Amino acid sequence: TPFIEFRGVSKTYPARRRAGTVHALQGIDLQIAPGEVFGVVGESGSGKSTLLRLVNRLETPTQGSVLVDGTDLATLSAAATRARRRRIGMVFQQFNLLANQTVYANAAMPLRLAKRGSEVSGRRRETAPQALSAPSRRDAERARVMELLDFVRMSSHADKHPSQLSGGERQRVAIARALVTKPDVLLCDEPTSALDGHHTEEVMGILSRVRTELGTTILLVSHELDVIKGICDRAAVLEGGRLTALVDVAPPDARE
Ligand code: ADP
Ligand code: ADP
Repeated sequence: TPFIEFRGVSKTYPARRRAGTVHALQGIDLQIAPGEVFGVVGESGSGKSTLLRLVNRLETPTQGSVLVDGTDLATLSAAATRARRRRIGMVFQQFNLLANQTVYANAAMPLRLAKRGSEVSGRRRETAPQALSAPSRRDAERARVMELLDFVRMSSHADKHPSQLSGGERQRVAIARALVTKPDVLLCDEPTSALDGHHTEEVMGILSRVRTELGTTILLVSHELDVIKGICDRAAVLEGGRLTALVDVAPPDARE
C-alpha cells in the first residue's frame, strides 16, 4: 500500500495580477511507497512546491484527495492535522535556521514545540500519566538531539551559531532538526540548490543514509538532475501543472 497517494488532484489559485485562475496542478495521480525516495522535477512554476504543500496540508486540493498513511488529509480535524504535521520533517533551500540560536537549540526546536503542544492538550486530561521530571526530560532531549547531530556529523559544532558554519554544514543541521521528532516523511524543497558541488554531495550522502538507516519516506523537489539521479528511486516530471512522465531511477546501491 502506498504511503502517500494523490488521487485526481487539481489545485487552482486565484490569479495574482489578472482575472481568472492559475492551474497549479491538474489531475495528479501518484502513489509513493513507504521508504521510497521520490523526486519531483520541473521548471519554475510547474507546481512542485504546491505538490509538497499539499502533503503537509498547507494547501488543500481544489479537486481530488491527498492521502497519507491511508488517511485522506481533508478528513482530519485541526488537532489531527497538527499531529500529522509533527510527523513530517521539512528541509528548505535556504536552511531556515534561527540565526541567534546555537546548532543544538536549532536541532532541538521541534522537540520543544511538540512538548509545549502536548502540555497544552494534556492539561485538560486529569488522568494524564505523570510527566517525566524536568531533568530527565532534558537528558532525553539531549540524547536525541546529539544522536541526530552525530548522524549528520555536526555534533562537534553543537555550540556554534549558524553564521559560523558553511552552507553544507547549515543544511546538515537543518536535516538533523527535520529528523529529531522521528518523522515518517521528509519533504525536501530544493535542499541542495544553494550549495556548491562538494556540499551538494555531502547533503546527498546524508539523505541516502536517511533512506537506508532510518527508512524515512522522502519527497525531494529539485531542478538538479544529478541530485535526482543520485538518490531517488523514482521521479515525476511536472510541466505546467501536469505530471508528464514518471521515471524509474535506480538508487546507487541497486546500480552496483
Ligand atoms: P514551482 O514550485 O514548480 O515553482 P509552484 O507550485 O510554486 O511551482 O507554482 C505553480 C503555479 O501556481 C505558478 O504559476 C505560481 O505562480 C502559482 N502559484 C503558486 N502559489 C500561488 C498562490 N498562493 N497564489 C497564486 N498563485 C500561486
Ligand atoms: P565541509 O566540507 O562542509 O567542511 P567536512 O566533511 O569537512 O565538511 O566536515 C565538516 C565538519 O564536520 C568538520 O569541521 C568536522 O569537524 C565535522 N565532522 C566531520 N566528521 C565528523 C565526525 N565523524 N564526527 C563529528 N564531527 C565531524
